[in-house]
Amino acid sequence: MIPSGDPRVTFPSPTAGLAELALEIGGVGLAGGSVAALATAFALDAFRTAVDMGRCSALLAAQETVLLTHCHSDHTAGLIAWLSAHTRRHPGRPTRVVVPAERRDELVAALTIWPDLDGVRRRVDLERAVEPASPGSLVELGDGAVATAFAVRHNTAALGWAIAATPGARPAAVFAGDGTVEPFRADPALLDATIAVVDCSFVEPGTRVAARLGGHGHLADWLELLPDLRCDALVLAHLPPEVTATAVLDRIPEPLPGAATLVPWITGPAAASSGGSS
Ligand SMILES: [Zn+2]
Repeated sequence: MIPSGDPRVTFPSPTAGLAELALEIGGVGLAGGSVAALATAFALDAFRTAVDMGRCSALLAAQETVLLTHCHSDHTAGLIAWLSAHTRRHPGRPTRVVVPAERRDELVAALTIWPDLDGVRRRVDLERAVEPASPGSLVELGDGAVATAFAVRHNTAALGWAIAATPGARPAAVFAGDGTVEPFRADPALLDATIAVVDCSFVEPGTRVAARLGGHGHLADWLELLPDLRCDALVLAHLPPEVTATAVLDRIPEPLPGAATLVPWITGPAAASSGGSS
C-alpha cells in the first residue's frame, strides 16, 4: 500500500456550497443539499424516500420514491442520474417519481426522449413509474408510511409533502418546497411535524416584497411566523449560495421567538469565528 502522505498521490479538499448535510432531530434523520437555483434534494432514508432531485448522490440513489415539489431544474436535474443509478445499483427495488399532476405528461415525455437513457427505459416503465399528484393525494411509502400532498404558493405548479409513519400520525417531516410563507401564515398547523423544511431564498433586508412576488420565502417571514409554529425543528432550505452561517446568525434576534429549533441548511460557522449559535 502506498503511504497516504506520498506526494505523488494527492486528494482534493471539500468546498462549501453544495455540501451534502445531515441532521437528526427527534429520531428523524434528514440528509441532503439545498442551495437556491443550484440544487435541492433531500433524503428521508428511513422512509426510502427523496424529496426533490436537483442532483443525485449515493444516498439519494438508494431511495425508492422521489416526491417532487415542482419541476424547476434545481429540483429535478438529478432525476436522470437518479433513474440510472437507482435502477442499476438497486435492481428489483421500487422506482417511482411523483410529480404535480400539471407536469406529469411533460416529465414523462422528457424522460422518454432523453438521449442514451435506453438502459433506464429497458429497466423501468416510465409511464408507470411517473405518477401525478394533487393537493390531498396520498402516496403509500411502504410499512404503513404515507406522504400527503398539500397546496403551496410558488410561481409554477407546486406541491408540499407531509410524510408520516402512519396515516393521521404527526408527520416526521413536512417539505414546503419552494413558495411563499402565505399558506403557512393562514394555517401554521401545516408545518406541525418533527422537522419542517421551508423555502428561505431571501435573507437580505429590503427584499421581502421581492421574495413574495417571486414566489419565495424570506428569513424575516419565518422569524415572524416562528411563535405560531409547532414543528420541533424549522429547516431553512434553498438559501442563496453566497449566504454564510454568520450572515444568517446576524439576522436572527435574541432571544429567538417560539420554541422550534432553527436549522439554516448550510455548513455552520468555523469554530473560531465569533457570534456562534447556542
Ligand atoms: Zn422553484
